[in-house]
Amino acid sequence: MAVKVKLARSFFDIPREEYLAPGHTACPACGATLAARLILKASGGPDVIIVNPTGCLEVTTTIYPYTSWGVPYIHVAFENAAAVASGIEAAIKALNKNGLLRRNTRVIAIAGDGGTYDIGLQASVVCLSVVTVSYTYSTTMRHT
Ligand code: SF4
Repeated sequence: MAVKVKLARSFFDIPREEYLAPGHTACPACGATLAARLILKASGGPDVIIVNPTGCLEVTTTIYPYTSWGVPYIHVAFENAAAVASGIEAAIKALNKNGLLRRNTRVIAIAGDGGTYDIGLQASVVCLSVVTVSYTYSTTMRHT
C-alpha cells in the first residue's frame, strides 16, 4: 500500500501537530527522540502504529504509567520489530480486505543499533528481503 507523503519545502510546511509529547526523559537534544518526532510529523497524521524494540527511545518515552506517544505504540523485543510490524500490516490488510476496517494505517518500526544491526540484525535482513510497506528506521547513535 503506497503512502503519499507531502514533502515539506519550507519550515512552514512542517505540520504543527505533535505526536510525541514533551516530558520524556531522553537526554536533552537526543537525536533519537527528535527523529521519532519528525518521522511522526512526516507520516502525515495520527493514523500510524509505532513498533519499537527495547532501547533508549522506548525506556525514555514509556515510563509507567505515562507515555509520550500520541499514536498507538507497541514495545517489542530487540529481535522482532520487523516481524511484529509485518504482522500488524498483514492484519490491517486482511481487515481492510474483509471490509472490517477502512483505514490506510501506516506501520512504522523504529529501532536503534540494538534492534537493527546487533541483536536485531536478522530482523533487519528479513525486513529488507520481504516485500512489505513496513519501514525500519535506524536511530543509531554513537556516543563518545
Ligand atoms: S539515544 Fe543517546 S541522547 Fe538519546 S536518550 Fe539515549 S543516551 Fe541519551
